[in-house]
Amino acid sequence: MPQRVYLDWNATTPLRPEARDAVMAALEVCGNPSSVHGEGRRARKILQDARLAVAASLGAEPDTVVFTSGATEANVLALGPGPHRTGMPPVQRLIVSAIEHSSVLAGGRFARDRIETAPVDRAGVVDLARLDRLLADQPPALVSVMLANNETGAIQPIPDVVKLVRARNGVIHVDAVPAFGKIDINFKKMDADILSVSAHKIGGPKGIGALLVAKDLRGLEPALTGGGQEKGRRAGTENLAGIAGFGAAAAVAATNRERFAGHCEALRRRLEIGLKRIVGSTIIFSEDVPRLPNTTLFTAPGLRAETAVIGFDLEGIAVSSGSACSSGKVQPSHVLAAMGAGPDLARGGIRVSLGWETTENDINRALEAWRKLAGTLVRKNDET
Ligand code: PMP
Repeated sequence: MPQRVYLDWNATTPLRPEARDAVMAALEVCGNPSSVHGEGRRARKILQDARLAVAASLGAEPDTVVFTSGATEANVLALGPGPHRTGMPPVQRLIVSAIEHSSVLAGGRFARDRIETAPVDRAGVVDLARLDRLLADQPPALVSVMLANNETGAIQPIPDVVKLVRARNGVIHVDAVPAFGKIDINFKKMDADILSVSAHKIGGPKGIGALLVAKDLRGLEPALTGGGQEKGRRAGTENLAGIAGFGAAAAVAATNRERFAGHCEALRRRLEIGLKRIVGSTIIFSEDVPRLPNTTLFTAPGLRAETAVIGFDLEGIAVSSGSACSSGKVQPSHVLAAMGAGPDLARGGIRVSLGWETTENDINRALEAWRKLAGTLVRKNDET
């Protein structure tokens, strides 16, 4: 049996050995980081070292980092009514881009009738003019735009978004989950107010993430209340092993980022040239805008994502559909729908996402599988 080829790194990544070691070491530590005794101090040191590593990997001050159970929780914590910059009125409505992750689209703690959607263009990039029109209404809004999209990889114009939001006295949240470890992120320079990340997309364990909260942001209500952990922003005894693993993964991700990006980009080029060579009518979404170096979302005439994903799986290749799977039903991708793709195209997106262990041979295997599958899954008269 040939080895399986994992090309779904945007869904999750394997645990890095450094992260595993840090998790195992932290599991041996008994102390509660909130305790004053020696055991507590030992645990607190692990917590603070991880905080330093995560902050450094994101160009942030350590005391802006709030550890959460993952980016879903970070997003729910970020999206609460009330935050504002010093001297500004609290936000009372939420604007989310149409291509956000479901945990942002759900609106966190905002009432449904307080949530508006900012459209994207055909390339999957947020429409700044339309966003500004939404921002022009009163009262000031909390705006959530992701740094890069998890399905297409399209990088969003965050510096422009920040400028627009600042000009309208709003607050800006950035979901940086797919971009983390792949492009340079500097929280201070970005000048966003709140930013979410997740460990399991960069080689850390699942179930741990963080929200970065700018120092001059006021009024962000905790979602979990009780103890005073994380400076009162997130109650509950910390997931020390997860946090330790996150810190270790963040340090490696920061050190390796440029090499990793170059590695992925070269392999992706090979993949995309190959896909088009096999089926001339292959469409690569967001092809003409800056994208994450590891992500390709493609389709071809007649392709059904659910059938293609199973076909690839049977060939030993793990890829995913651009569509969200819920309760066994494959829905058309909300990202592709927002980009103006008709229902046919929106049901056909296949996402291939690469990682640090991906090899040229993996890409060759994926292309062999595509050649086999295309014969039956792609509409014949469109094939070249
Ligand atoms: N935001 C984005 C863009 C994501 O891709 C994900 C993970 N699929 C999340 C948030 C949620 O992260 P977590 O799995 O840590 O809850």
